[in-house]
Parts: sequence; structure tokens; C-alpha cells
Amino acid sequence: MKLKYKNVLVYGMSVSGEWVSKLLLKKRANVFLYDDNRQKLKSKNIENCYLVQELNDNLISQFDFIVVSPAIEKDNKYLLSAKAQNIKVFSEIEFASQFCKDLVAVTGTNGKTTTVELISAMLNKKRKAIACGNIGYPLSRAVLEKKRYIKVVEVSSFMLENIDTFSPRVSTILNIEPDHLNRHKTMTEYTRLKYNIFKNITPKDYIVINLDDNIHISKKCFILTYSQKSIADVYIRQGYIYLHQNRIIAINELKLKGKHNLNNIMCAICYAYVYKVSPAKIREALLAYRSEPFRIEEIGVVNGIRFINDSKSTNISSTLACVESIKGAIILLLGGSKKGLDYKKLFSKLPKRVKTIIAYGEIADSLIEANENSFDIMKASDLTTAFNLAIDRAIKNDNIVLSPATASYDQFANFVERGKLFNKLVSEYEVKTKNE
Ligand code: ADP
Repeated sequence: MKLKYKNVLVYGMSVSGEWVSKLLLKKRANVFLYDDNRQKLKSKNIENCYLVQELNDNLISQFDFIVVSPAIEKDNKYLLSAKAQNIKVFSEIEFASQFCKDLVAVTGTNGKTTTVELISAMLNKKRKAIACGNIGYPLSRAVLEKKRYIKVVEVSSFMLENIDTFSPRVSTILNIEPDHLNRHKTMTEYTRLKYNIFKNITPKDYIVINLDDNIHISKKCFILTYSQKSIADVYIRQGYIYLHQNRIIAINELKLKGKHNLNNIMCAICYAYVYKVSPAKIREALLAYRSEPFRIEEIGVVNGIRFINDSKSTNISSTLACVESIKGAIILLLGGSKKGLDYKKLFSKLPKRVKTIIAYGEIADSLIEANENSFDIMKASDLTTAFNLAIDRAIKNDNIVLSPATASYDQFANFVERGKLFNKLVSEYEVKTKNE
């Protein structure tokens, strides 16, 4: 694509908007920035870009194309106007991917960040690779800063709304479970968007699938499989993970715990296989791998109570995966903003090891209603109050687990801020117990 002197609107000043603007400037396009939030727009004052104060149909017609932030929904009036005027709208990954030679991608409801980090750790044993995309390091930034690296892109359903030529050499859908239905409205639409990751697959490309899941592929391409139950390219036998006939690692040597993480690991091994990383190097990468914070992270044991921070869990299936991976009695902190999920499904599947649930935040009443007296449940206004209630109820050998099963936006900027508060509460409790 020739970009010199093209007039491009970057709509939405998220971190990806910022970096795509820099990439466009490097390609000598005329870059116009717009955000519905004026303050955000002003704060992002990127040198040599024009700030657009007011958008309208006429102005939109002047742009050659628009790069849109994942936060902007597809029925946004400006995007509809652009489409009506045949002005192309691209997501940031769609645009940035045109400058990538070697790109692989991962989508799914849960496990994306863990899997892209694992893939990049394994590929780094052979060549330079960088995890990017939805993890907070935009693909545009990787294009600018990590030119020759293999780009291992985490892709969200929001990003897949504006895909045109995006074509990863290896791709997968880890799983599809109810999430983001306040934006996508139906599971059919959410599923359709996830399958967009395969839109431009060619016969030379690879798709990785979990045989234990029901992801269906009708594309002509190479297929690699993994399974916890049956023989696949990557599989489990007698407590070991195998790649074909090669024994890679014993499950009890892994630092990442839980069945869900076995899926993430096996999926990553398939990507490593495509890039011919040896079984010994894959093993090395797995032994060195440190889990990302706020993902079933053990914070410590105080007074015999174990504290686990799974703030990144923002839907029902991730909380179920978390609970399944923890042994012993659990006091579960659930809560946050409303998201349109059916929590009856959560309560019907939680094990009875969950002895108490503390529901907090905007969603507390809906959780209590959905529980229908299945579990002992208490209400708290916020996370701090929920934490204190949990401490009051906990006895030796209990686990106090923050795995909220929804977004944090009612009381926090994001899951990181929520996770940090939980860690702070644990440290304060530790100090208090020492002084008693
Ligand atoms: P994502 O980037 O898709 O949000 P993460 O790797 O950050 O996924 O993990 C977020 C949370 O999702 C974890 O803390 C864990 O509770 C859960 N999780 C991770 N991998 C899986 C999986 N394969 N299946 C189900 N739940 C998972």
C-alpha cells in the first residue's frame, strides 16, 4: 500500500492508536487524530499529527482510510458514515500486519496472553520473536521497534471486527465461551468474529486445533492438533507431554498449573514445531517460563491461609478453570461490572469446595440472585470490604481466591489495578498478623 501523503484518520487514542500513528508518520502519511474524549485527544499530542476537534460526514469523505481502535464499536455513527462513503476502515492489527513478514496469531476467550508468551519464549530459542497485540504492546510498535522478529500476536474479538487481509502463518482459536456479549450481542456473532482469524488462511499456512474442543475447520491448510484425551500431534501420556514420539516434559515439572494451562502449553508447542524448535529447546523454554502476574498467582500464605490472585479472570469459564486448578477449601471473591453473562452457569458448575462466595461491586445483586441458594454467599460493597469478610470467615488451610468472573470497570481502571489492590490487602494483613 502506498502511504505517502495519504490522509489517514486514526480514530481512538488508545495505546494502539498512538503507535499506529507513529507507524503511519514513518510511512509519510498525513495523520489525523480523533477521540470522542477530548481530554484523551489533547493528552496524546503526537508530534506532526493533526488533531480533529469535530468529525462529520463531509470530513470523513476527505480521508483515504481510517484506522480504528478496538474500543470503537462497529455500529459507531462515524464508522457507518465511512462505510456508506466507501472509505475503508481497518483495525490496527490489520494495518500493521501489512508490514510483517513473519506473523503468527492466537485468539480465544481465555488463555491468549499465556499462550502468546509461551509461543514467543519457545520461538526465541530458535529466532527472535516478540509477543504483541492485545497484550499492551501493539503490533504497530513491534513493526517499528522489532523489525526482523517473528510477531506473535494476541488478537481479541474486538480487533477481528475490521479484518481484511490479516493472514497469520499459524493461527488458532483456543476456546470460545460466553464473553463480551454486551458488545457482540449474540454467541453467533462472537463466534463469527473469532473465526475471522482464519479468513485469509492459504494452503501453506497452519491452523492449530484442540481435539477436545469443538472448533471446526473447513479451510485447506496444514492442521496441527493437541489433546489431553487422545493421540494428536501434541498429547499427554502417563504424566508427560509428548510431541509426536518425543517426550517433552513431565506435567509435575511445569510451573504453570491447571488443566487449562496444559492446553495453552500444548498449543504453544504446535507453533514451536512449525518453526522447527527442537524438543530439548521447547523443554528449556518451559522450565524457564514464569507465569504472568494476576493469573492464578499465589501471593503467599499468611496464618495458614493461601491467597491467590486471578484478577485477569473476567468471565465464567476462566473462573471455573481457576477454581478447578486449586486444591482445598475456597473462599471466592466474585464481582465487578455487569457484562451480560448468565451466572447460573457458574453456580451450577462450581465445586462444593467453594465454601463461601463474597459478591461485591455493581454485579453483586445479580450474582446473589443467580446463586439461587446453592452456595453460602455474602454481599460486599467493594473489594476491600469483600477481602475483610473473607478473612473473618477463613480458617487454616483455606484459599482466599480473587477470580472475579467479570470486568473491573465499575471500581477500577483495569484488572491490573484490581489485582494490585488485592496484593496490597494481603501485605497489610500480613503486617497486621505479625504485629498481633
Ligand atoms: P486472556 O489473555 O485470554 O485473557 P490469560 O492467559 O491472560 O488469557 O488468562 C486469563 C485467565 O483465564 C487466567 O487467569 C485463567 O483464570 C484463565 N485461563 C487461562 N487459560 C485458559 C484456558 N485455556 N481455558 C480456560 N481458562 C483459561
